[in-house]
Amino acid sequence: MENASSAQSAIQSGRIRVLKEGSGPSDRAVGPVVYWMFRDQRLNDNWALIHAVDQANKANVPVAVAFNLFDQFLGAKARQLGFMLRGLQQLHRDGEAVETIPNFIKECGASLLVTDFSPLREVRGWKEEICKRVGDLVSIHEVDAHNIVPLWVASEKLEYSARTIRGKINKLLPEYLIDFPKLGPPNRKWPTSNHSVDWENLITAVVRKGAEVPELEWCEPGEHAAREVLMGSKNGFLTKRLKNYSTDRNNPLKPKALSGLSPYLHFGQISVQRCALEARNVKKLCPKAVDTFLEELIVRRELADNFCFYQPQYDSLQGAWEWARKTLMDHASDKREHIYSREQLEKAQTADPLWNASQLEMVHYGKMHGFMRMYWAKKILEWTSGPEDALAISIYLNDKYEIDGRDPNGYVGCMWSICGVHDQGWQERPVFGKIRYMNYAGCKRKFDVDGYIAYVKRLVGEVKKRKAETLLNEKKKELCI
Ligand SMILES: Cc1cc2nc3c(=O)[nH]c(=O)nc-3n(C[C@H](O)[C@H](O)[C@H](O)COP(=O)(O)OP(=O)(O)OC[C@H]3O[C@@H](n4cnc5c(N)ncnc54)[C@H](O)[C@@H]3O)c2cc1C
Repeated sequence: MENASSAQSAIQSGRIRVLKEGSGPSDRAVGPVVYWMFRDQRLNDNWALIHAVDQANKANVPVAVAFNLFDQFLGAKARQLGFMLRGLQQLHRDGEAVETIPNFIKECGASLLVTDFSPLREVRGWKEEICKRVGDLVSIHEVDAHNIVPLWVASEKLEYSARTIRGKINKLLPEYLIDFPKLGPPNRKWPTSNHSVDWENLITAVVRKGAEVPELEWCEPGEHAAREVLMGSKNGFLTKRLKNYSTDRNNPLKPKALSGLSPYLHFGQISVQRCALEARNVKKLCPKAVDTFLEELIVRRELADNFCFYQPQYDSLQGAWEWARKTLMDHASDKREHIYSREQLEKAQTADPLWNASQLEMVHYGKMHGFMRMYWAKKILEWTSGPEDALAISIYLNDKYEIDGRDPNGYVGCMWSICGVHDQGWQERPVFGKIRYMNYAGCKRKFDVDGYIAYVKRLVGEVKKRKAETLLNEKKKELCI
């Protein structure tokens, strides 16, 4: 795979990889351009869309954005699919049919397919398949529209830790952390089609099918909502809440100290680069908070993508470093104080009220506090029959209930907590071996544990009350009809 030629391009050549070189003229598309939107579901600040429009304008051909709805992707339920579809509905203006990609390419005679980038194996597998299935003439460009420094430019190998990737990323930021060019309308309009998407029915069907994990009321989807969370005048992170980030971000009782951006970043409803540019603009006001935020947003997040891209076993014990695998296996048969089944854990039926609270926060609120996620996963290691089991259960629960789940950050978060990925060895102890340990007493020293348990109880009570009210209103409506 090589980088695309940068000649007359609106975007840096390093951001694009040619997955397939079509046999048509190499300098321009002859048929229309299709952007297959997958990970970066937005119209603003989207390098893949910028590239697609730029290529279409140069060849004077129309451009379409296609989205292929998978209602079975890594176990997504109503919570995640509803959020995604409602966001997509806001993008949708033209009524294009969502077809499987190769068929769509064939149907419209496209000669260039642009796609955004995801390191997850399923998505990479589909792209390989699509490369085989589209006609010879078609070129396929993959654009890293998610990371600030394109993944393959930041590093060509699996990085060991934040320490080893930080310098590489920071060195490249002046080149890549730049303003976006303004995206004008395409020169040629896509011929109007009579296909239209019945959003209401589509969303109702998807939400009904995935009703086991219901949608969230507090988290409004879409690009506009994402920008409000970042910098809105009411309660924006950079405008109103930034100063608490460096002091309170590890306090689960103060979730508003965190940005709250992960749902939007996961679905690409806001660009990481936009968040970083805006944070840099207010650095003078709160330098420490901005530095800490950028470390998480850029270094930690891009490190997670690096792991999933270069480590094919990114969600299995086999993907852990040698020292960690050894220590975990040495302690795999240590006696555990408790062993809980997946069902007991899912229902928050453990003897630890703090752990149960974090599980309930995730199940009902849909976003567990970042600090609690570490404690939560580490306890699963302590309470299951072995590390493989612990990893599988933590990923299953994380992907099922977190609004930001099914993300490289989630796989790496679980791998960090349970398998020591990107961490170092610590003092050896039962069950954990040399994997970093966390316990209830440590949490008690750090924050008001009882306060957090009471806070989650209130939160769950409110969610349940609202759900009951909604059900009642629906029943009333039905009776009126
Ligand atoms: C066991 C476990 C599971 C996790 N699962 C997920 C997940 O499914 N999806 C997810 O996005 N994050 C996950 N994380 C990472 C982190 O906890 C969340 O990104 C964060 O809590 C999201 O809230 P926020 O956006 O308000 O955080 P903020 O602190 O405001 O962070 C801003 C952004 O920086 C990035 N970031 C922050 N912390 C990390 C981190 N440790 N690693 C990588 N990137 C980070 C995220 O993109 C985040 O949205 C997990 C961590 C652990 C330990």
